[in-house]
Amino acid sequence: SLILAIETSCDETSASVIRGGKHILSNVVSSQIDVHVRFGGVVPEIASRKHVETITLIMEQAVREAGCSLRDLSAIAVTQGPGLVGALLVGIVAAKSLAMALDIPLIGTHHIAGHIYANELVHEMNYPCMALVVSGGHTELVLLESEGEFRVVGRTRDDAVGEAYDKVARALQLPYPGGPHIDKLAAGAENAIELPRAWLEPDSYDFSFSGLKSAVLAVINQTRMKGLELDEAALARGFQESVIDVLVTKALRAVRQYGAKQLLLCGGVAANRGLRTALTSRCEAEGIELLIPPGGLCTDNAAMIGAAAHLKLKRSQFSNLDMKADPGLPLEGWSLSAHN
Ligand code: ATP
Ligand code: MG
Ligand code: FE
Repeated sequence: SLILAIETSCDETSASVIRGGKHILSNVVSSQIDVHVRFGGVVPEIASRKHVETITLIMEQAVREAGCSLRDLSAIAVTQGPGLVGALLVGIVAAKSLAMALDIPLIGTHHIAGHIYANELVHEMNYPCMALVVSGGHTELVLLESEGEFRVVGRTRDDAVGEAYDKVARALQLPYPGGPHIDKLAAGAENAIELPRAWLEPDSYDFSFSGLKSAVLAVINQTRMKGLELDEAALARGFQESVIDVLVTKALRAVRQYGAKQLLLCGGVAANRGLRTALTSRCEAEGIELLIPPGGLCTDNAAMIGAAAHLKLKRSQFSNLDMKADPGLPLEGWSLSAHN
């Protein structure tokens, strides 16, 4: 089966053709970062307009690179949510038009299910498994008891990890998106400024990063007020160490408590070298199998949407053509057993 998948939830316009839910025939990603960078973040109206400009070209390119024709497609998958509503709409309208014109099924797909199932494109997922989702808008521990069954066992109560990275980077006057810059600064640091860790209640798998962000801002302000020079690298390293300590500790505890066979690291922040290294060594030490998609499949792309949509194609769980963009689409409700 061939799925044409479309992703436009934020600032990447992407289309991909996937065979059998596993094989990437094409995965075209057009990033808008250069347009948003001067605003220090994603501007929703500009994002929608850029998606409109590029979506048709990107879809054509994906089909061309896959070496197939539109007639070969079995279904059209598209991100239904979460994301920016105006951005989602562009992908959804394109997907509906194609599904209607080709008379093939439409599969509205959950963006975070996509980040999780990016792993299936390169690895073999085994259940039950635990996914640590770390992205620009999400920080969650998701238990998958079986294929396509999502249960959120922990989530952030305020900022997402990627958001915290971007805000800290902004305070240090680094360009958007700041995650990779903080990562690089931290890697080259000789010292670390000790910062607090938000563990929350002892049995909680929830996260909180806004206190840490405030602590970073306090260090920056105090140093400036005293007229001292700020050791930015040490601050970046202290911030990163705090984030990683909490993420790794909670993820491993969740793996043990729920008897997960694998830990999956997913989302844009999975590109973080410090996090990858720390998780790899802790999982090795504790005999836990760790799956991490390659960098290009961690950040937003349509191939991961195709991989998740394949779960629904296999069971003929399709969306209606009146499907709406849902900026707050719940992950658990997208589970295969919840389909109605
Ligand atoms: P969501 O998936 O929650 O809707 P999103 O799609 O905008 O949000 P992603 O594209 O998955 O998020 O990830 C983008 C985020 O990843 C940004 O916040 C960016 O700073 C962060 N990021 C990317 N690379 C790194 C890195 N090396 N270290 C830390 N953060 C990183
Ligand atoms: Mg993005
Ligand atoms: Fe994402």
